[in-house]
Amino acid sequence: MSRTIDSIVECKGALILGAGVAGLFTALKLAPFPSLVLAGTRPGMSGSSAWAQGGIAAAVGEDDSWQSHAADTISAGAGLCDPEIAAMVAREAAARIDDLVAFGAPFDRKADGTLALGREAAHSAKRIVHIRGDRAGAEISRTLAERALNSPSISLLEGFHAIELALEDGRVCGLFARHGTGAHARLILFRAPAVVFATGGLGALYAVTTNPLEARGEGLGMAARAGAVIADTEFVQFHPTAIAIGRDPAPLATEALRGEGAILVDEAGRRFMLDVHPDAELAPRDVVARAIHREIAAGHTAFLDCRAAIGETFAQRFPTVFAACKTAGIDPAKQLIPVAPAAHYHMGGIASDQFGRSSLPGLWSVGECASTGLHGANRLASNSLLEALVFGARAADDIEANVTIRPGQGTPPAPQRFAATAPPHVLRDAMTRLVGVERNEAGLSDALAIIDQIERAGGAEPALLNMTAAARLVTVAALDRRESRGGHFRTDYPKTDLEGQRSFMTLADVELRTKAGRETAKALTARNA
Ligand SMILES: Cc1cc2nc3c(=O)[nH]c(=O)nc-3n(C[C@H](O)[C@H](O)[C@H](O)COP(=O)(O)OP(=O)(O)OC[C@H]3O[C@@H](n4cnc5c(N)ncnc54)[C@H](O)[C@@H]3O)c2cc1C
Repeated sequence: MSRTIDSIVECKGALILGAGVAGLFTALKLAPFPSLVLAGTRPGMSGSSAWAQGGIAAAVGEDDSWQSHAADTISAGAGLCDPEIAAMVAREAAARIDDLVAFGAPFDRKADGTLALGREAAHSAKRIVHIRGDRAGAEISRTLAERALNSPSISLLEGFHAIELALEDGRVCGLFARHGTGAHARLILFRAPAVVFATGGLGALYAVTTNPLEARGEGLGMAARAGAVIADTEFVQFHPTAIAIGRDPAPLATEALRGEGAILVDEAGRRFMLDVHPDAELAPRDVVARAIHREIAAGHTAFLDCRAAIGETFAQRFPTVFAACKTAGIDPAKQLIPVAPAAHYHMGGIASDQFGRSSLPGLWSVGECASTGLHGANRLASNSLLEALVFGARAADDIEANVTIRPGQGTPPAPQRFAATAPPHVLRDAMTRLVGVERNEAGLSDALAIIDQIERAGGAEPALLNMTAAARLVTVAALDRRESRGGHFRTDYPKTDLEGQRSFMTLADVELRTKAGRETAKALTARNA
């Protein structure tokens, strides 16, 4: 990239990109080791974190155990979880909830003062800690941001848009970020002895998503373009019950509603999940999402019926969902909620080890942008905030033990507002239509051709290249996986391959193969001419 750098900022310690739960928690666990947290939007309200509803999974109930939590995680992951990572995360969950309590997170409690626990699909026990019903994400994000603002070793900067990693002798030594837009945009090089990506997921690459528009897969794309190994990108989780009222992003009807007994019906009141899975509405997310997708494809409308299970207590117990329904004139205590599947969570990401270390020296990744082996082919509900906490703490320990603090230098420009824009419509449409709930070879090949065209038309715009790199990695991995498993369903390969493994690739592998593919296609065309 040819660039004019307007200023250079030397960070003393860790440079953390992303101010969701993963980024803020890493910074707090690092303290008093210095960190600079850089984000697009305001810490405390940033990323998917602030939107999380259900809560955090942790085996803290009397009749529960970390072994049972790990077993449920592995079972949801459809054969591709790393069992050691699942055990480690489940074991460390209680300590991380204690950390949040110590930071001031106001978890809901029972009359005896112990944590109130909710149940979600595919968990064999009540183990979801929650706050004010469905406000876990907002409250935890606010608590962590307030705590970070008051920590002298943490600097928080919003309104910076990172576009590329900086490397020196094969080691990540910082990143380039834009500040301001249009003619006023400035390019700042932030240099740091340790860089942590906590950049969230990629749901906004899809036209129908529950994620904020800033979840554009840019961290994944940046790491891939710098040569990092990327894992399991084909596994995108589609939430079955996004509220289908034409909003972008689509508001979410949390899974806890089905945990409380809400049912899925069509326009005639038929409870269609009874014919699909013995657990009906509490079947794994991918099963429910596919069933709703097929109902809609067959011309039906799918509704969540909360009238009997929740009724008049709805507004008090699920205020966020209630408010979303109200904007569309729906009273969920008395009326059905129209629902559709939406891109919700990315199991894949930057391949990271048990300390969040990526394959690039100097780069750690934590939270949704990482692929640690915890989720396998399908995330167990409420395990993602937990993963962000466990790996945030582990990355912090690793950095503190191995990275030397150095003198800081340079002053970043004052933070300013930044509003993420939606990725190109043609890309989002292709991802939803061709790389969505159900996929096949022809559709995935068409999606790759569309991604090629978007890249050609976009010149060398780095933010766009980050998004298309992420989209390409999802699509190529989905094309390569000739089986169906967890969040990945191929209509042309509906069975699960007993030999299936996790997928690891670099962008260079993908580009070589794409080039080879194009040459073969050209040779075949010439031969057949
Ligand atoms: C509606 C909804 C409900 C959910 N409910 C739950 C739940 O109940 N339980 C659960 O465990 N999980 C839930 N999830 C998933 C969970 O919220 C996310 O996986 C988790 O919050 C991700 O946290 P994170 O810190 O990794 O990323 P995020 O919170 O998404 O933060 C990403 C950060 O990176 C920044 N960023 C990204 N790219 C750039 C860039 N190029 N330049 C500058 N900054 C950048 C963003 O500004 C942001 O600060 C839910 C998700 C959604 C969308």
